[in-house]
Amino acid sequence: MTEAYCARRRDRTARYNLSIMDATQFLPEVQKVLDRDGEPAYRLEQAYSALTGSLVRDWEEATSLPRSLRETLNEEAPAAVLDLRRTWRASDGTRKYLFYTHDAHAIETVMIPEKGRHTVCISTQVGCPMACKFCATGLLGIKRNLKAREIAEQVFVVARDIAPERVSNVVVMGMGEPMLNYKATLAALKVLNDPDGFGLAARHIAVSTSGLVDKIRRFADEPQQFHLAISLHTPFEDERQEIMPIAARHTIPELMEAARYYVTQTRRKLFFEYTLLAGVNDQPRHVEALAELLDHPLYHLNLLRFNWTDTGFSATSKHDAREFLLYARELDLSATLRPSRGQDIDAACGQLAAKDLRGRPAVPTI
Ligand code: SAH
Ligand code: SF4
Repeated sequence: MTEAYCARRRDRTARYNLSIMDATQFLPEVQKVLDRDGEPAYRLEQAYSALTGSLVRDWEEATSLPRSLRETLNEEAPAAVLDLRRTWRASDGTRKYLFYTHDAHAIETVMIPEKGRHTVCISTQVGCPMACKFCATGLLGIKRNLKAREIAEQVFVVARDIAPERVSNVVVMGMGEPMLNYKATLAALKVLNDPDGFGLAARHIAVSTSGLVDKIRRFADEPQQFHLAISLHTPFEDERQEIMPIAARHTIPELMEAARYYVTQTRRKLFFEYTLLAGVNDQPRHVEALAELLDHPLYHLNLLRFNWTDTGFSATSKHDAREFLLYARELDLSATLRPSRGQDIDAACGQLAAKDLRGRPAVPTI
């Protein structure tokens, strides 16, 4: 790489944290072609910017690159790594996207429009090994981790689809446990955050984890200001172990220690996800224990309605969910109850299973 290029890149990375290494690792196949053909180093930057800024899905669209290089790249390192197979639109405007990876795994992505915002919910693994008892993704088991490029490309495709509207938020709450695919997830989020890349502010990006304590600490030490949510689902040890196998590995006190570390290090708000399951975790005693456990000004309780999955659980009624919220607030908990979105196309939290969806009551748009 030329010195001028490296200096320019260094100058940017000082401000935005994306290093030359990051860009190279994000596009290893492209780098390989460029190296082999003796292309100048700035071609990587042009390719990176075409993919992550101009959102090209065919190198033919990357007019900053010479025609012959575009042709070579199209043959040897295609711009799109995910094959968009199908999209659905729910009655509330939520959209779901079904992708196939090059090795024929199916993954899903969701776009949720709300009050002028467009939030993209992305997947980080094909399936998930955590086996939470209420989650459709958990029933699948794990096939493999997604690569950084596969994670970021989900957002690029949605951004193209909704243009001229813009993606305003990204939440890592689709298929998979992001902390089990830490490096690739972080690499993708850095590209999404990079002003020379997709350019989304870090505070508009959130990661949700079922609670891997060592990774929560590591995440707290990252320089980017991404948000974090921890899936808690009950304040009681025995109950948590019953619905979330990971609870056998990390106790609630261990989890809360990591949570404390996160807020101390970052001074950022920390979200606790809590899916209300009828008769399981929705009683007044749960609110009372939560009020003690989450007694910190930076902790926020996010109540979720349970979205139907074939797992034997059922949703707390709207009325009871509201009561739960009001009691939580009465006990001084900072709490909100999130509406469920996209249920009629199985696009809501925990419903992503990427199986053959033919015959479902959804309207494919392609
Ligand atoms: N694996 C990560 C992120 C993906 S799941 C995690 O577990 O945090 C995103 C959120 O949806 C988690 O809080 C998860 O517990 C919740 N969830 C899973 N299945 C659900 C369902 N059927 N209804 C509502 N929320 C669900
Ligand atoms: Fe995996 Fe999250 Fe589903 Fe648990 S809730 S099985 S961690 S995707």
